[in-house]
Amino acid sequence: MLCNNCKEELTQDNVYPSDRRYCADCGQKHALYLQERRQTLASLRDMNLESKIVQTRYFIRQAVMEFGLDKVYISYSGGKDSTVLSHIAKQMYPDILHLFSNTTNEYPETIRHIRWEKEENGTNLITVLPIDAKGEMWTFKKIIEHYGYPMFSK
Ligand SMILES: [Zn+2]
Repeated sequence: MLCNNCKEELTQDNVYPSDRRYCADCGQKHALYLQERRQTLASLRDMNLESKIVQTRYFIRQAVMEFGLDKVYISYSGGKDSTVLSHIAKQMYPDILHLFSNTTNEYPETIRHIRWEKEENGTNLITVLPIDAKGEMWTFKKIIEHYGYPMFSK
């Protein structure tokens, strides 16, 4: 086996004991990285609502400044989280693109809400559907027949 990061050959002597995908050096760095990420998430979660909104606006502005408004979009599912993000982003950039990825396994209410967002609420929204290399639709039924039923997580 090779280290997942530096591709060095893993031996009993150099493997990182608590995560055997890495050598000792890379394993230690990866553990530190994960620890820092957990701390960042915890401190973001602990912020009050006003600070979270300020932080969100900052992230959105940074993305638009870095890539340009024509190169960023809201990944919009129609659920509560992406709706909050959409609301904040549209206050700053009213015409920002929203992309709804239709899994073909959506509730009718979600599809109706997506239509309302586009047609009544004036959101710049496009819907994409999963297609295979031959241009055929990957319906949820076809995925279950091909791969089996998803378990534990999406
Ligand atoms: Zn390594």
